[in-house]
Amino acid sequence: MSDGVLGRYISFPVIYKIAIALVLGAILGAVIGEPITVLKPLGDLFIRLLKMIVVPIVLFTLVVGAASIHPSKLGRIGIGIVVFYLITSAIAVFLGLGMANLFQPGKGLALAGEEKVISVTPPSAIDVVLGIVPTNPFSAIAEGKILQIIFFAIVIGIALSYLRESKDERLSRVAGITLDVFEALAEVMYKIVRGILEYAPIGVFALISYIIAKQGPGVLGPLGVVVAALYIGLFIHIFIVYGAILGTIKLSILKFLNGAKEAMLTAFVTRSSSGTLPVTMKVAEEELGIDRGVFSFTLPLGATINMDGTAMYQAICAIFIANAVGIPLSFGQQMLIVLVAVMASIGTAGVPGAGAIMLVMVLEAIGLPLTPGSAVAIAYAMILGIDAILDMGRTMVNVTGDLTGSTLISKLEGTLNTEVGVWKA
Ligand code: ASP
Repeated sequence: MSDGVLGRYISFPVIYKIAIALVLGAILGAVIGEPITVLKPLGDLFIRLLKMIVVPIVLFTLVVGAASIHPSKLGRIGIGIVVFYLITSAIAVFLGLGMANLFQPGKGLALAGEEKVISVTPPSAIDVVLGIVPTNPFSAIAEGKILQIIFFAIVIGIALSYLRESKDERLSRVAGITLDVFEALAEVMYKIVRGILEYAPIGVFALISYIIAKQGPGVLGPLGVVVAALYIGLFIHIFIVYGAILGTIKLSILKFLNGAKEAMLTAFVTRSSSGTLPVTMKVAEEELGIDRGVFSFTLPLGATINMDGTAMYQAICAIFIANAVGIPLSFGQQMLIVLVAVMASIGTAGVPGAGAIMLVMVLEAIGLPLTPGSAVAIAYAMILGIDAILDMGRTMVNVTGDLTGSTLISKLEGTLNTEVGVWKA
């Protein structure tokens, strides 16, 4: 009998188990409250397991991916995906501004404080570009610096693919063997991801019950409008913006979301694009049929620089804070937000809460510096109070955007496999 129950549990699709855990966790988090937070280590375990896989899966998959396509094609994919990421992030900011102007969060709060000025300086563009090249690739790997790892993996992949074509028979043989080893290692990582997903329901339950127990009721009041504006904006971004983009290549957004759902849910509860990356890569391959040569590059890059949800969140929060301190933003300041929020979202690390830190830069740029004791600081602290709730939705969209771009590029490159996963039938 118990065998039967266990057997049925195991054969039940993991995504449903995760969804049930999410709903149960939210309900029990709200009902039980604080005591349920003792389960937090079970959630932390899920995040640690995912993080354990991130660097190896990116490195191994991308070496093989880079070796499998011609450098000129890699360049074309690179330019295409960066343009896609920039444009969709800008659209997200415009949408965020639209939602915030409609909902006017924070209006009438009239927070007051004592003004003093401190400043934050963003790094220069040259430093950002130079920073992609690691001076010591092994320390980049040890520190998990994804952009540097991407660069190094591509260089190794290209070098190996040239060596494999070498006229020297011995060289081409060892290069081929090395690539096979990398490929095997990548497969090992995917296997581990599938194992981690079997644990996911428990991790998801612990994570969601913790967040709801800690923050659930606090969402009401003036901040409820911020939450509503962001979530409606995110919903529109997924269904209208991504829906239209996929529509241009004749793919259904509903099928796409059905394929992306494991990654979306994982992003929602872990609040980390980079932590979700192993799952994102798994669904890209198994459910969405995206070519490894494409996603091995576009997904780690996206998890690092493409954050549509974060860009939208920054726009909405900037307007909330401006309203709350009684300094409504002019049209010019709002246009400045488009530029700064896109840059800030690029600079945001794919970890929980990072977007809130970059929000400081956005506020600074539009003339609302965060100074100790100021009204801006009080409004900012209010946002921080509910940041986990905002972070769940924005991270989910960040990851969905990465998958949308990767699907588009793979389709345009003629490598999208529509015979697998959600596309078939
Ligand atoms: N948590 C987000 C992510 O990982 C970043 C953010 O805080 O906006 O994508």
